[in-house]
Amino acid sequence: MKKNVVIKINESWCKSCEICVSFCPKKVYDMGQFYPIVARPEECTGCKLCEKLCPDFAIQIIIPEETKKTK
Ligand code: SF4
Ligand code: SF4
Repeated sequence: MKKNVVIKINESWCKSCEICVSFCPKKVYDMGQFYPIVARPEECTGCKLCEKLCPDFAIQIIIPEETKKTK
């Protein structure tokens, strides 16, 4: 995993559209029974594409380095 990216999925907002599963360039997600599963977090580059594409704002990508810079 690059930069220890943290992927958070808010399952109560997710409507299982699978956009994140289809569009992640690194195939980080697998579709579970109801929600996407972060199957390969070590592949995540922190590009935030999934966060931008999720129509329900259910994904949050947290890059620790970014938050440290603001100190
Ligand atoms: S931030 Fe980019 S690489 Fe990481 S899960 Fe989202 S789309 Fe995939
Ligand atoms: S794009 Fe958002 S709403 Fe769609 S499956 Fe992924 S997390 Fe759920």
